[in-house]
Amino acid sequence: MAAAANHNSGATVSQREQNETALSDTIRHIYVHVPFCARICPYCAFYKELLDRSQTPRFCEALLGELRQEALATASPSAGGQDRPEEKAADEGAARPRRVRRHLLPSTIYFGGGTPTALTTAQLEFLLGGLRDALDLSKLIEWTMEANPGSVSESKAALLRRLGITRISLGIQSWDDDLLKLLGREHNAKQGEESFQILRNAGFSNINVDLMFGLPGQTIHQWRNTLERSVSLKPEHISTYCLTYEEDTEFFLRLARGEFRQDPDTDSEFFELTMSILETAGYEHYEISNYARPGFRSAHNRAYWSGSDYLGIGPSAFSTIGMTRWQNISDFRRYADAVLSEKSTVCSVEHLTSEMKRAERIALGLRTADGAPAQLLESFPDETREFIRLGLLRRSRGNFLLTRAGKALADSVAEAFV
Ligand code: SF4
Repeated sequence: MAAAANHNSGATVSQREQNETALSDTIRHIYVHVPFCARICPYCAFYKELLDRSQTPRFCEALLGELRQEALATASPSAGGQDRPEEKAADEGAARPRRVRRHLLPSTIYFGGGTPTALTTAQLEFLLGGLRDALDLSKLIEWTMEANPGSVSESKAALLRRLGITRISLGIQSWDDDLLKLLGREHNAKQGEESFQILRNAGFSNINVDLMFGLPGQTIHQWRNTLERSVSLKPEHISTYCLTYEEDTEFFLRLARGEFRQDPDTDSEFFELTMSILETAGYEHYEISNYARPGFRSAHNRAYWSGSDYLGIGPSAFSTIGMTRWQNISDFRRYADAVLSEKSTVCSVEHLTSEMKRAERIALGLRTADGAPAQLLESFPDETREFIRLGLLRRSRGNFLLTRAGKALADSVAEAFV
Protein backbone atom coordinates (compact mmCIF):
# COMPACT_ATOMS: atom_id res chain seq x y z
CA MET A 1 0.00 0.00 0.00
CA ALA A 2 1.20 3.48 -0.78
CA ALA A 3 0.70 4.70 2.74
CA ALA A 4 2.52 1.76 4.27
CA ALA A 5 5.64 2.55 2.24
CA ASN A 6 6.12 5.67 4.34
CA HIS A 7 4.54 4.33 7.47
CA ASN A 8 5.46 6.38 10.52
CA SER A 9 8.13 8.24 8.68
CA GLY A 10 7.35 11.32 10.75
CA ALA A 11 8.16 13.27 7.62
CA THR A 12 7.45 16.97 7.58
CA VAL A 13 6.12 19.22 4.87
CA SER A 14 9.10 20.60 3.04
CA GLN A 15 9.43 24.15 1.78
CA ARG A 16 9.84 22.73 -1.71
CA GLU A 17 6.53 20.94 -1.39
CA GLN A 18 4.82 24.13 -0.25
CA ASN A 19 6.26 26.01 -3.20
CA GLU A 20 5.01 23.31 -5.56
CA THR A 21 1.55 23.66 -4.03
CA ALA A 22 1.54 27.36 -4.68
CA LEU A 23 2.78 27.04 -8.23
CA SER A 24 0.78 24.13 -9.54
CA ASP A 25 -2.38 24.18 -7.38
CA THR A 26 -1.56 20.68 -6.27
CA ILE A 27 -3.47 19.94 -3.07
CA ARG A 28 -1.34 17.98 -0.61
CA HIS A 29 -3.54 17.99 2.49
CA ILE A 30 -7.10 16.72 2.82
CA TYR A 31 -9.38 16.85 5.85
CA VAL A 32 -12.53 14.70 6.00
CA HIS A 33 -15.23 15.46 8.58
CA VAL A 34 -17.41 12.65 9.95
CA PRO A 35 -19.83 14.31 12.39
CA PHE A 36 -21.38 11.33 14.18
CA CYS A 37 -20.81 10.59 17.87
CA ALA A 38 -22.27 7.88 20.09
CA ARG A 39 -22.83 10.51 22.75
CA ILE A 40 -22.69 14.31 22.74
CA CYS A 41 -20.16 15.77 25.17
CA PRO A 42 -21.45 18.87 27.01
CA TYR A 43 -18.34 20.98 26.31
CA CYS A 44 -18.05 20.27 22.58
CA ALA A 45 -18.45 23.03 20.01
CA PHE A 46 -17.50 21.03 16.91
CA TYR A 47 -20.20 20.25 14.38
CA LYS A 48 -21.44 16.81 15.45
CA GLU A 49 -24.66 14.79 15.52
CA LEU A 50 -25.88 11.90 17.57
CA LEU A 51 -25.10 8.68 15.70
CA ASP A 52 -28.06 7.59 13.57
CA ARG A 53 -27.25 4.37 11.74
CA SER A 54 -30.16 4.87 9.35
CA GLN A 55 -28.41 8.00 8.01
CA THR A 56 -24.77 6.96 7.84
CA PRO A 57 -24.84 4.91 4.58
CA ARG A 58 -26.22 7.89 2.62
CA PHE A 59 -23.74 10.17 4.35
CA CYS A 60 -20.81 7.94 3.31
CA GLU A 61 -22.10 8.01 -0.30
CA ALA A 62 -22.14 11.79 -0.10
CA LEU A 63 -18.59 12.05 1.28
CA LEU A 64 -17.26 9.95 -1.55
CA GLY A 65 -19.43 11.91 -3.97
CA GLU A 66 -17.89 15.22 -2.89
CA LEU A 67 -14.41 13.76 -3.07
CA ARG A 68 -15.00 12.38 -6.57
CA GLN A 69 -16.45 15.71 -7.71
CA GLU A 70 -13.33 17.46 -6.44
CA ALA A 71 -11.05 14.84 -7.98
CA LEU A 72 -12.88 15.05 -11.32
CA ALA A 73 -12.83 18.83 -11.27
CA THR A 74 -9.13 18.68 -10.60
CA ALA A 75 -8.11 15.83 -12.85
CA SER A 76 -5.79 17.81 -15.08
CA PRO A 77 -3.13 19.72 -13.17
CA SER A 78 -1.44 20.90 -16.31
CA ALA A 79 -4.51 22.47 -17.86
CA GLY A 80 -4.53 25.52 -15.57
CA GLY A 81 -7.27 28.12 -15.39
CA GLN A 82 -10.86 27.57 -14.37
CA ASP A 83 -13.30 25.10 -15.76
CA ARG A 84 -16.54 26.47 -14.34
CA PRO A 85 -17.84 29.88 -13.45
CA GLU A 86 -18.68 30.63 -9.84
CA GLU A 87 -21.66 28.62 -8.67
CA LYS A 88 -24.32 29.67 -6.19
CA ALA A 89 -24.27 27.79 -2.90
CA ALA A 90 -27.39 25.77 -2.21
CA ASP A 91 -28.63 27.62 0.84
CA GLU A 92 -27.30 31.00 1.81
CA GLY A 93 -26.57 32.37 -1.60
CA ALA A 94 -22.83 32.32 -1.02
CA ALA A 95 -20.82 31.99 -4.18
CA ARG A 96 -18.87 28.77 -4.39
CA PRO A 97 -15.17 29.37 -5.01
CA ARG A 98 -14.23 29.02 -8.63
CA ARG A 99 -13.37 25.46 -9.46
CA VAL A 100 -9.83 25.92 -10.55
CA ARG A 101 -8.26 22.85 -12.06
CA ARG A 102 -6.32 21.45 -9.15
CA HIS A 103 -4.47 18.25 -8.67
CA LEU A 104 -5.24 16.16 -5.58
CA LEU A 105 -2.01 14.43 -4.63
CA PRO A 106 -2.23 14.14 -0.85
CA SER A 107 0.80 13.70 1.35
CA THR A 108 -1.48 13.81 4.40
CA ILE A 109 -5.12 12.91 5.01
CA TYR A 110 -6.90 13.51 8.31
CA PHE A 111 -10.28 11.99 9.22
CA GLY A 112 -11.72 14.01 12.11
CA GLY A 113 -15.08 14.64 13.67
CA GLY A 114 -17.21 13.82 15.39
CA THR A 115 -16.02 10.27 15.71
CA PRO A 116 -15.02 8.65 12.40
CA THR A 117 -14.77 5.25 14.12
CA ALA A 118 -18.46 5.53 15.08
CA LEU A 119 -19.11 4.29 11.53
CA THR A 120 -19.47 0.53 11.19
CA THR A 121 -16.63 -1.62 9.89
CA ALA A 122 -18.53 -2.11 6.61
CA GLN A 123 -19.07 1.66 6.21
CA LEU A 124 -15.42 2.40 6.91
CA GLU A 125 -14.41 -0.21 4.35
CA PHE A 126 -16.74 1.40 1.79
CA LEU A 127 -15.44 4.89 2.59
CA LEU A 128 -11.70 4.20 2.76
CA GLY A 129 -11.83 1.82 -0.20
CA GLY A 130 -13.71 4.44 -2.24
CA LEU A 131 -11.19 7.10 -1.27
CA ARG A 132 -8.31 4.85 -2.32
CA ASP A 133 -9.99 4.34 -5.70
CA ALA A 134 -10.64 8.07 -6.19
CA LEU A 135 -7.22 9.43 -5.24
CA ASP A 136 -3.59 8.94 -6.18
CA LEU A 137 -2.01 8.00 -2.83
CA SER A 138 1.50 7.44 -4.15
CA LYS A 139 2.81 10.46 -2.19
CA LEU A 140 0.90 9.78 1.03
CA ILE A 141 3.09 9.85 4.14
CA GLU A 142 0.49 10.15 6.90
CA TRP A 143 -3.17 9.14 7.14
CA THR A 144 -4.71 9.90 10.52
CA MET A 145 -8.06 8.83 11.87
CA GLU A 146 -9.57 10.11 15.10
CA ALA A 147 -11.02 7.35 17.27
CA ASN A 148 -12.83 7.20 20.57
CA PRO A 149 -12.46 4.39 23.09
CA GLY A 150 -15.63 2.36 22.93
CA SER A 151 -15.78 2.56 19.15
CA VAL A 152 -12.60 0.56 18.50
CA SER A 153 -12.93 -3.20 18.03
CA GLU A 154 -10.23 -5.65 16.95
CA SER A 155 -11.85 -6.13 13.54
CA LYS A 156 -12.22 -2.37 13.01
CA ALA A 157 -8.61 -1.71 14.01
CA ALA A 158 -7.40 -4.46 11.65
CA LEU A 159 -9.46 -3.01 8.80
CA LEU A 160 -8.07 0.50 9.35
CA ARG A 161 -4.54 -0.88 9.22
CA ARG A 162 -5.28 -2.90 6.10
CA LEU A 163 -6.77 0.10 4.29
CA GLY A 164 -3.77 2.31 4.95
CA ILE A 165 -4.46 4.37 8.07
CA THR A 166 -1.00 5.08 9.51
CA ARG A 167 -1.84 7.11 12.59
CA ILE A 168 -4.62 7.02 15.19
CA SER A 169 -5.61 9.92 17.42
CA LEU A 170 -7.37 8.43 20.43
CA GLY A 171 -9.70 10.62 22.51
CA ILE A 172 -8.74 9.48 26.01
CA GLN A 173 -9.13 12.96 27.64
CA SER A 174 -8.56 11.67 31.19
CA TRP A 175 -7.74 8.50 33.09
CA ASP A 176 -10.03 9.54 35.94
CA ASP A 177 -13.48 7.93 35.81
CA ASP A 178 -15.21 10.76 37.69
CA LEU A 179 -13.82 13.37 35.29
CA LEU A 180 -14.75 11.22 32.30
CA LYS A 181 -18.31 11.14 33.63
CA LEU A 182 -18.32 14.91 34.10
CA LEU A 183 -17.13 15.27 30.49
CA GLY A 184 -20.00 13.07 29.33
CA ARG A 185 -17.64 10.62 27.66
CA GLU A 186 -18.95 7.20 26.69
CA HIS A 187 -15.86 5.35 27.97
CA ASN A 188 -14.18 4.77 31.31
CA ALA A 189 -10.44 4.53 32.00
CA LYS A 190 -10.39 0.74 31.66
CA GLN A 191 -12.03 0.88 28.23
CA GLY A 192 -9.59 3.62 27.24
CA GLU A 193 -6.62 1.40 28.00
CA GLU A 194 -8.21 -1.60 26.28
CA SER A 195 -8.77 0.46 23.13
CA PHE A 196 -5.16 1.63 23.18
CA GLN A 197 -3.94 -1.97 23.41
CA ILE A 198 -6.31 -3.12 20.63
CA LEU A 199 -4.77 -0.49 18.36
CA ARG A 200 -1.22 -1.46 19.33
CA ASN A 201 -1.97 -5.14 18.80
CA ALA A 202 -3.42 -4.32 15.38
CA GLY A 203 0.01 -2.95 14.46
CA PHE A 204 -0.42 0.81 14.87
CA SER A 205 2.96 2.20 15.78
CA ASN A 206 1.95 5.86 15.62
CA ILE A 207 -0.75 6.63 18.19
CA ASN A 208 -1.69 10.02 19.60
CA VAL A 209 -3.47 10.31 22.94
CA ASP A 210 -5.69 13.38 23.41
CA LEU A 211 -5.89 14.72 26.99
CA MET A 212 -7.70 17.64 28.64
CA PHE A 213 -6.79 19.81 31.61
CA GLY A 214 -8.37 22.78 33.38
CA LEU A 215 -11.52 20.71 33.97
CA PRO A 216 -14.02 21.74 36.66
CA GLY A 217 -12.80 20.36 39.98
CA GLN A 218 -9.72 18.71 38.46
CA THR A 219 -6.75 18.63 40.84
CA ILE A 220 -3.06 18.82 40.02
CA HIS A 221 -2.78 15.32 41.48
CA GLN A 222 -5.39 13.97 39.02
CA TRP A 223 -3.65 15.67 36.09
CA ARG A 224 -0.25 14.30 37.15
CA ASN A 225 -1.76 10.79 37.28
CA THR A 226 -3.30 11.23 33.84
CA LEU A 227 0.01 12.38 32.35
CA GLU A 228 1.99 9.60 34.04
CA ARG A 229 -0.46 6.88 33.05
CA SER A 230 -0.39 8.16 29.47
CA VAL A 231 3.41 8.12 29.40
CA SER A 232 3.43 4.56 30.78
CA LEU A 233 1.53 3.40 27.67
CA LYS A 234 4.31 4.87 25.47
CA PRO A 235 2.20 6.61 22.81
CA GLU A 236 4.25 8.30 20.09
CA HIS A 237 2.34 11.56 20.44
CA ILE A 238 0.37 13.32 23.19
CA SER A 239 -1.94 16.32 22.69
CA THR A 240 -2.99 18.28 25.78
CA TYR A 241 -5.79 20.84 25.56
CA CYS A 242 -6.97 23.28 28.18
CA LEU A 243 -10.78 23.20 28.42
CA THR A 244 -12.37 26.22 26.78
CA TYR A 245 -15.94 27.17 27.53
CA GLU A 246 -17.42 27.58 24.06
CA GLU A 247 -20.66 29.45 23.51
CA ASP A 248 -23.73 27.30 22.84
CA THR A 249 -22.44 24.44 24.96
CA GLU A 250 -23.86 23.10 28.21
CA PHE A 251 -20.55 23.81 29.97
CA PHE A 252 -20.75 27.46 28.90
CA LEU A 253 -24.20 27.75 30.48
CA ARG A 254 -22.98 26.08 33.66
CA LEU A 255 -20.08 28.53 33.81
CA ALA A 256 -22.48 31.44 33.32
CA ARG A 257 -24.71 30.08 36.11
CA GLY A 258 -21.71 30.02 38.44
CA GLU A 259 -21.59 26.22 38.70
CA PHE A 260 -18.07 26.19 37.24
CA ARG A 261 -15.22 28.57 37.80
CA GLN A 262 -12.21 29.39 35.63
CA ASP A 263 -8.81 29.74 37.25
CA PRO A 264 -6.01 30.93 34.94
CA ASP A 265 -3.38 30.42 37.67
CA THR A 266 -4.26 26.75 38.08
CA ASP A 267 -4.37 26.34 34.28
CA SER A 268 -0.79 27.70 34.16
CA GLU A 269 0.24 25.17 36.80
CA PHE A 270 -1.31 22.36 34.74
CA PHE A 271 0.54 23.62 31.67
CA GLU A 272 3.89 23.84 33.51
CA LEU A 273 3.44 20.34 34.90
CA THR A 274 2.62 19.03 31.42
CA MET A 275 5.83 20.44 29.92
CA SER A 276 7.87 19.14 32.82
CA ILE A 277 6.53 15.55 32.82
CA LEU A 278 6.35 15.05 29.06
CA GLU A 279 9.73 16.60 28.26
CA THR A 280 11.37 14.55 31.01
CA ALA A 281 9.75 11.47 29.44
CA GLY A 282 11.42 12.26 26.10
CA TYR A 283 8.62 14.03 24.24
CA GLU A 284 9.46 17.09 22.15
CA HIS A 285 7.18 20.05 22.83
CA TYR A 286 6.79 21.09 19.20
CA GLU A 287 3.55 23.06 19.46
CA ILE A 288 1.80 24.60 22.47
CA SER A 289 -0.66 21.69 22.76
CA ASN A 290 1.40 18.94 21.13
CA TYR A 291 4.24 16.67 22.20
CA ALA A 292 5.88 13.96 20.10
CA ARG A 293 8.63 11.40 20.32
CA PRO A 294 11.43 12.23 17.85
CA GLY A 295 10.22 11.50 14.31
CA PHE A 296 6.52 11.48 15.19
CA ARG A 297 5.42 15.10 14.81
CA SER A 298 2.12 15.29 12.94
CA ALA A 299 2.82 16.15 9.29
CA HIS A 300 -0.82 17.13 8.70
CA ASN A 301 -1.00 19.58 11.58
CA ARG A 302 2.38 21.04 10.71
CA ALA A 303 1.05 21.76 7.23
CA TYR A 304 -1.85 23.74 8.73
CA TRP A 305 0.43 25.65 11.04
CA SER A 306 2.82 26.57 8.24
CA GLY A 307 -0.01 27.98 6.11
CA SER A 308 -0.22 25.24 3.46
CA ASP A 309 -3.37 24.90 1.38
CA TYR A 310 -5.83 22.19 2.38
CA LEU A 311 -9.09 20.82 1.07
CA GLY A 312 -11.91 20.00 3.51
CA ILE A 313 -14.48 17.35 2.64
CA GLY A 314 -17.71 16.79 4.59
CA PRO A 315 -20.25 18.94 6.46
CA SER A 316 -18.82 22.03 8.18
CA ALA A 317 -15.33 21.37 6.78
CA PHE A 318 -13.20 24.40 5.92
CA SER A 319 -10.90 24.59 2.91
CA THR A 320 -8.19 27.15 2.31
CA ILE A 321 -6.65 27.37 -1.12
CA GLY A 322 -4.63 30.38 -2.13
CA MET A 323 -6.40 33.50 -0.92
CA THR A 324 -9.83 31.86 -0.59
CA ARG A 325 -11.32 30.08 2.40
CA TRP A 326 -14.71 28.43 2.32
CA GLN A 327 -16.87 26.26 4.53
CA ASN A 328 -19.30 23.47 3.74
CA ILE A 329 -22.87 23.41 5.06
CA SER A 330 -22.94 22.42 8.77
CA ASP A 331 -25.87 20.03 8.42
CA PHE A 332 -25.17 16.50 7.24
CA ARG A 333 -28.60 15.95 5.68
CA ARG A 334 -28.52 19.14 3.62
CA TYR A 335 -24.89 18.48 2.81
CA ALA A 336 -25.76 15.00 1.47
CA ASP A 337 -28.75 16.40 -0.48
CA ALA A 338 -26.47 18.98 -2.09
CA VAL A 339 -23.73 16.51 -3.05
CA LEU A 340 -26.09 13.85 -4.36
CA SER A 341 -27.96 16.37 -6.52
CA GLU A 342 -24.63 17.86 -7.68
CA LYS A 343 -25.28 21.25 -6.10
CA SER A 344 -22.77 23.31 -4.18
CA THR A 345 -22.03 22.24 -0.61
CA VAL A 346 -20.54 25.62 0.30
CA CYS A 347 -22.27 27.90 2.80
CA SER A 348 -19.70 30.69 3.10
CA VAL A 349 -16.68 32.03 1.26
CA GLU A 350 -14.05 34.38 2.61
CA HIS A 351 -11.48 36.17 0.50
CA LEU A 352 -8.30 36.47 2.51
CA THR A 353 -5.98 39.44 2.36
CA SER A 354 -2.22 39.15 2.64
CA GLU A 355 -2.53 40.97 5.98
CA MET A 356 -4.91 38.27 7.28
CA LYS A 357 -2.56 35.55 6.06
CA ARG A 358 0.40 37.23 7.71
CA ALA A 359 -1.43 37.51 11.06
CA GLU A 360 -2.38 33.82 10.90
CA ARG A 361 1.19 32.80 10.07
CA ILE A 362 2.46 34.75 13.08
CA ALA A 363 -0.17 33.42 15.50
CA LEU A 364 0.23 29.80 14.37
CA GLY A 365 4.01 30.02 13.95
CA LEU A 366 4.58 31.42 17.43
CA ARG A 367 2.77 28.40 18.86
CA THR A 368 5.34 26.07 17.30
CA ALA A 369 8.89 25.20 18.27
CA ASP A 370 10.05 26.60 14.90
CA GLY A 371 8.60 30.02 15.72
CA ALA A 372 7.48 32.75 13.31
CA PRO A 373 9.77 34.11 10.56
CA ALA A 374 11.36 37.36 11.78
CA GLN A 375 10.48 39.25 8.60
CA LEU A 376 6.77 38.78 9.37
CA LEU A 377 7.26 40.72 12.62
CA GLU A 378 9.39 43.50 11.15
CA SER A 379 6.57 46.02 11.46
CA PHE A 380 6.33 45.41 15.23
CA PRO A 381 9.77 46.49 16.53
CA ASP A 382 8.41 47.92 19.81
CA GLU A 383 6.34 44.85 20.63
CA THR A 384 9.11 42.36 19.87
CA ARG A 385 11.63 44.40 21.92
CA GLU A 386 9.22 44.53 24.86
CA PHE A 387 8.45 40.80 24.77
CA ILE A 388 12.18 40.03 24.61
CA ARG A 389 12.76 42.33 27.60
CA LEU A 390 9.99 40.53 29.51
CA GLY A 391 11.62 37.18 28.73
CA LEU A 392 8.67 35.92 26.69
CA LEU A 393 10.26 35.96 23.22
CA ARG A 394 13.69 35.22 21.78
CA ARG A 395 15.25 35.36 18.35
CA SER A 396 16.99 32.39 16.81
CA ARG A 397 18.16 31.72 13.24
CA GLY A 398 15.89 34.25 11.58
CA ASN A 399 12.79 33.32 13.59
CA PHE A 400 11.09 34.63 16.72
CA LEU A 401 10.32 31.90 19.26
CA LEU A 402 8.40 31.90 22.53
CA THR A 403 10.49 31.21 25.61
CA ARG A 404 9.30 28.71 28.21
CA ALA A 405 7.59 31.56 30.10
CA GLY A 406 6.17 32.89 26.82
CA LYS A 407 4.54 29.56 25.96
CA ALA A 408 2.16 29.93 28.91
CA LEU A 409 1.06 33.29 27.43
CA ALA A 410 1.14 32.29 23.76
CA ASP A 411 -2.29 33.65 22.85
CA SER A 412 -1.69 37.02 24.51
CA VAL A 413 1.68 37.41 22.80
CA ALA A 414 0.22 36.51 19.40
CA GLU A 415 -2.64 39.01 19.88
CA ALA A 416 -0.13 41.85 20.07
CA PHE A 417 0.86 41.17 16.45
CA VAL A 418 -2.62 41.11 14.95
S1 SF4 B 1 -16.74 12.70 21.07
FE1 SF4 B 1 -15.56 14.50 20.42
S2 SF4 B 1 -16.67 15.38 18.67
FE2 SF4 B 1 -18.08 13.93 19.72
S3 SF4 B 1 -19.25 15.22 21.11
FE3 SF4 B 1 -17.51 14.43 22.28
S4 SF4 B 1 -15.89 15.99 22.05
FE4 SF4 B 1 -17.44 16.40 20.48
